[in-house]
Amino acid sequence: MMPSPFPVDCHMHTPLCGHAVGEPAEFVEAALARGLQTIIFTCHIPMPSARFGGAGIRMDRDMLPLYRRYVEEARALGKDAGLEVRYGIEAEVFPDAQVMEWMDEILATERFDFILGSLHHQVGAYRDWLREHGVTSDEAIVRHYFTHLAAGARSGRYHSLAHPDVIRLYGTLRDGFEPERALPWFEEVVEAAVENDVCLELNTSGLFKGDYVMHPDPLLIRVAAEAGAKFTLGSDSHIPTALAQGFDQAVRQLRASGIGEVYVFNGGEREALPLPELADLPEGDEAPPSIPS
Ligand SMILES: [Zn+2]
Ligand SMILES: [Zn+2]
Repeated sequence: MMPSPFPVDCHMHTPLCGHAVGEPAEFVEAALARGLQTIIFTCHIPMPSARFGGAGIRMDRDMLPLYRRYVEEARALGKDAGLEVRYGIEAEVFPDAQVMEWMDEILATERFDFILGSLHHQVGAYRDWLREHGVTSDEAIVRHYFTHLAAGARSGRYHSLAHPDVIRLYGTLRDGFEPERALPWFEEVVEAAVENDVCLELNTSGLFKGDYVMHPDPLLIRVAAEAGAKFTLGSDSHIPTALAQGFDQAVRQLRASGIGEVYVFNGGEREALPLPELADLPEGDEAPPSIPS
């Protein structure tokens, strides 16, 4: 297994969300095999209704102590081996204040190191919202997706916006996603992120599913970089062997876009870590791992 060109992976899931596999020891072992120094678990946050996906997508609220214990077990195992394990969460971005209030209670009571903000447009709740608000054309859906994401950036809830163009996957759009056409709306997200000092996530999972492009699309990465956006880097692993997947390509893409550092969170505090120089990366791309999405 090739060592990861970047030592921190900021996005991964545990079996508690119902669609990931791996014991704490297996994540620790895989992280060490990849030469990682820090990993941050970011399971899907509990949400108030089954329309956000029930069991099979996310843990129930009363499972949070289990999640905490899972991460603590991994932390204890990693400690002696020189791996730092942190406690994060993949929270939701959603355009309904009441729903967000319910979720905010969790954010207020759990001491997360890192909070991702994701708009999972594929869940029933968001599709219901679109339908109830008469949003049906691809163009309107893309516009609403990015506008809601920008509102998420302004909300102060999240440290980083996860896979910020995931609207292109999972069949919410009828005719597919064109990054060029989405630019004006994506720029609103970038502006809100920069103004509110929120990071964007470069999420490599897109390289291994659907259209085989990282999140966000390289064009969008470049636009965000030019506007001064800060990035976090995550594999979105749902299986230990996917840790740091695609980081070689991610580092190349970020460097090519003029980005020299990536941000990592600990207890909500941000730290910048330099990316390796292009010249220091090993020749050739790593072979993509064969993994379930
Ligand atoms: Zn997941
Ligand atoms: Zn996600």
